[in-house]
Amino acid sequence: MRSRWIPFVATLALAAACGAYASNEEDLPLEAAEPLPPVKVRLSSLGSPSKLVVRGTGATITNGAGQPVSAALPLTVTAAGGTLRAAGVQSSSLRIEGNLVTLEVGKTTRHYPGTVLLTASGARVVAWNECSLDEYVEGVLSGECPALFHPEAIKAMAVAARSYGYRKAFLNPAELCDTTHCQVYLGHGRVSPSHREAVADTSGLCALYEGEVIDAVYSADCGGYTEANEDAWRGARPLPYLRPVEDAPEPHGESFCSVNRSHHWKITLPLARLRSLAGKAGSDLRLAVLDVTESGRVRALQLGPAPAQKAEANGEEPVVPQGGKRFSGEEWRRMLGLSQVRSLRFEVRHTAAGVALEGRGYGHGVGLCQFGANGMGRFGYDFGDILQHYYSGIEIRPAPCVKAARALITQRRQAPPTATE
Ligand SMILES: [Zn+2]
Ligand SMILES: [Zn+2]
Repeated sequence: MRSRWIPFVATLALAAACGAYASNEEDLPLEAAEPLPPVKVRLSSLGSPSKLVVRGTGATITNGAGQPVSAALPLTVTAAGGTLRAAGVQSSSLRIEGNLVTLEVGKTTRHYPGTVLLTASGARVVAWNECSLDEYVEGVLSGECPALFHPEAIKAMAVAARSYGYRKAFLNPAELCDTTHCQVYLGHGRVSPSHREAVADTSGLCALYEGEVIDAVYSADCGGYTEANEDAWRGARPLPYLRPVEDAPEPHGESFCSVNRSHHWKITLPLARLRSLAGKAGSDLRLAVLDVTESGRVRALQLGPAPAQKAEANGEEPVVPQGGKRFSGEEWRRMLGLSQVRSLRFEVRHTAAGVALEGRGYGHGVGLCQFGANGMGRFGYDFGDILQHYYSGIEIRPAPCVKAARALITQRRQAPPTATE
């Protein structure tokens, strides 16, 4: 399982700034080293406040026209009619560059590296952070990865978070935000030494599939089997590197993610709850799984009155209700709550009191399994092994130049479709 990433680490120095393709590898061109552009993150988690306080030391402040502003921190910023107001200054936008810029909104305090950019939307202040990709990854790790995870697991997460951020920030026209919609990024207030080390040890490295930086999605705990991306997100194009994999050292062995203390979960739905979900008054309600995905996740369920004839007594076949309501797995999870039905890898058991859902894992289960990565680290696997286990067929390489990466995507979009199975 020793992976192919090792030789490429030697090319790291070559590509420190931009991640030029290695000159000694195949026939890939050697790109001129140019630094990656900054990552621009919309700080959606701060909301769109009417007032925001900026603090910091050694900061320079410029206005929308790039001219220095004669104002000092701390600065209270408000907005009116699409214009920012701060200490007598009026401007469409403000750029604050300092050692670590602090933003305060109500009781929330955050610290950001690089530059904070403020714009106005009507009477609301909109905040952005511009920083290097690696500074961004440090902040993501502090929000997405426990500091006490195994160092190799944190490194794997660093590469995944960097790849995800690279794709979203540089190759995707939509904006990168700081919530779970993209990746949680709460600035640098809670970055621990282990996060910093993992970023430094993997600096600039991304996961690539056929030369393209991958959409490196991840979830907390895959429940023992990762999910295919098109099964988790309806309408998604199947991605060759997001295939279902069994998350265990050997087939049907104890899964890597069983190191998670909440790996197994169970919830009970009493009869009254079932009745309200079904919209039926009957006492003998049945919940049946109609279909599962390749990884064993519930794709569809039916809840309704038990059939008059009980086939259950003699057979293993589950009793499918007559009529009633049908739900997709995702609908069911959302309806009952994502933290209640923690994953779609569950089984249904009928009891005298109602129904029990017994499951494993937490989250959508696609891509890297965070608890599984922690388990793999403890088993002695390194970050390259971990990433190649969860993302099929990838290589770990320095981040390519953005221009080259964009050109590759355009070229692939224009290429005539090839016949595949
Ligand atoms: Zn987003
Ligand atoms: Zn797992």
